[in-house]
Amino acid sequence: MRSQTKKIFVVLGIVVLVNALSAAENVDLNMMMKIREEGFTNSKVMDTVGYLCDVIGPRLTGSPNSKKAHEWTRQQLESWGLLNARVESWAFGRGWSVEHVSAHLIDPEHSPLLVWPRAWTPGTNGLVKGKAVAVKLSSESDFEKYRGKLAGMILLTEDKRELKPHEQADSNRLTSQQLEEIKKYNVPSAGPPPSNAKEEYFKRMKFQKALRQFYQDEKVLAIIEPALGDGGIVRNLRGPDYYKPGDPFPIPNLFMSTEQYNRLIRLLDRKIEPEVELDVQVRFHDGDLLDGNTLAEIPGSDKKEEVVMLGAHLDSWHLGTGATDDGAGCAVAMEAVRILKALGVQPRRTIRIALWGGEEQGLLGSKEYVSRHLASFPEPVNPEEKQLPPYLRQEDGPLDMKPDYSRFSVYFNFDDGGGKIRGVYAQDNLPAAAIFEN
Ligand SMILES: [Zn+2]
Repeated sequence: MRSQTKKIFVVLGIVVLVNALSAAENVDLNMMMKIREEGFTNSKVMDTVGYLCDVIGPRLTGSPNSKKAHEWTRQQLESWGLLNARVESWAFGRGWSVEHVSAHLIDPEHSPLLVWPRAWTPGTNGLVKGKAVAVKLSSESDFEKYRGKLAGMILLTEDKRELKPHEQADSNRLTSQQLEEIKKYNVPSAGPPPSNAKEEYFKRMKFQKALRQFYQDEKVLAIIEPALGDGGIVRNLRGPDYYKPGDPFPIPNLFMSTEQYNRLIRLLDRKIEPEVELDVQVRFHDGDLLDGNTLAEIPGSDKKEEVVMLGAHLDSWHLGTGATDDGAGCAVAMEAVRILKALGVQPRRTIRIALWGGEEQGLLGSKEYVSRHLASFPEPVNPEEKQLPPYLRQEDGPLDMKPDYSRFSVYFNFDDGGGKIRGVYAQDNLPAAAIFEN
């Protein structure tokens, strides 16, 4: 290792450390050829991603599926000959899974509806029916307008979402020119005054709490929002996650395919109140509040104390099967270490694979790994700061370096979906960029 520059930076959201490698490395072309040969002629990558997505399915953090996926990946890595294959657990919150969903428009005519519940929201407690009404609840002052009028109603809380025709292919491949643009480092211009993100966060949380209370007091039957995506694709919308014990969401909250949601709004525009029937059954798994990170290693030889890491996040949202985000990344990382083991490669440094849990809830698994093994900032003392999600905390104070800190070389993260790797984001880390330019 010639360059000694050490930096903390963020790769696609994951905090890692880089101890920059030598810029002028001898590349073993013979080995590269063998690696390509194994990858191209004996690939297991589709089998791996297929099992993760088709057999195990969605891998929501804390859910039984997430635990299955961690255990299955651990076993796979072990069966390929990696050592110390383990699942490192960390405290998360409530597990949650969907057991049954059905929804129908029953008036003015009968049609099946495509809906899926927001994670960590309750079911309907049997078959229920209610009129759908459009409401706008954007501040506490809006509550009075609706008080006493919403009992047993299904609330449509968003506007109609306009859909565009698909004139181009949905997949997006960057042109060479766009890739060149990404390489440029643009000096940030004098932007707006320092953000008041924390204030905004607390304001939002206060309103969300009041809103939950309002839904409960008014005995609202359910809330429906349009999903992201079109053509019947029901993608998730980000929002508050109610996975902490003692912090439940009071009523069913569903995403509906946008085309059908828009139809309900159009009916209301005609002064026709649609009637909808719902049966949503979910389960909370409060007996085990943990999630985990799958880890395994190919031990190094003379530099085995030094560690090179690669990985991706194993958790996904529950509406799909988590193929592009980030089953593909997990399968690629697993395939890379499988190839090395299949060829009997003996690396000088230890290679460690990590398949993180809890990425979608705020990089929880990778942050836990970093603070447990590499380095951590002191916990905030200010009680207000403690309530903030990690991404808004002002991490400060002396960095507590753990034993692995000085032995850590680099971490490669895959979270860009499938497709050919056409570049590596350096995340403003100049020494790392210099290595990849060579
Ligand atoms: Zn992702």
